[in-house]
Amino acid sequence: MTRPSRFPAAVFLDRDGVINRKAPEGEYICCWSDFEFLPGVFEAIARLNRAGYLVFVFTNQRGIALRRMTNEAVVEIHRRMRAALEKAGAPIEAVFICPHGIEDQCECRKPKPGMLLEARSRYGVDLTRSIVIGDRESDLEAGRAVGAAVYQVGPRTSLLDLISSFA
Ligand SMILES: [Mg+2]
Repeated sequence: MTRPSRFPAAVFLDRDGVINRKAPEGEYICCWSDFEFLPGVFEAIARLNRAGYLVFVFTNQRGIALRRMTNEAVVEIHRRMRAALEKAGAPIEAVFICPHGIEDQCECRKPKPGMLLEARSRYGVDLTRSIVIGDRESDLEAGRAVGAAVYQVGPRTSLLDLISSFA
């Protein structure tokens, strides 16, 4: 067994298209009944936990800025998502949300790495030993900006397929 580092490695998962089926273009996951886990996600996250990674979710939710859903509704979706994962033995350390629109010029909306930097300051994560997994180029761009390894989920490559090489 390797000695745990003072600065843990983490896996950062995008949400829509990685953990749950994404909404059709221009639509948003507005409530729990819209949320559908993708196959293999519970097992993938459980394996990442067992491999010693802190697991975070980092998600752009522009629908909040567009008033398509409230911040509270998104927090409630994440509470239920985390409860389901925890029950399956696949806990998530924290969920980071960017609620801003494109025009808000914030530092957290991907492809900017603000949510990753926040995880570093709050949890002492070593980003250069960490992994970012997303379905979009903007997820990967955020990861590259902080020196993390990046992997892309696609129509033929699930989260479970991807993590099998390291967890
Ligand atoms: Mg996505």
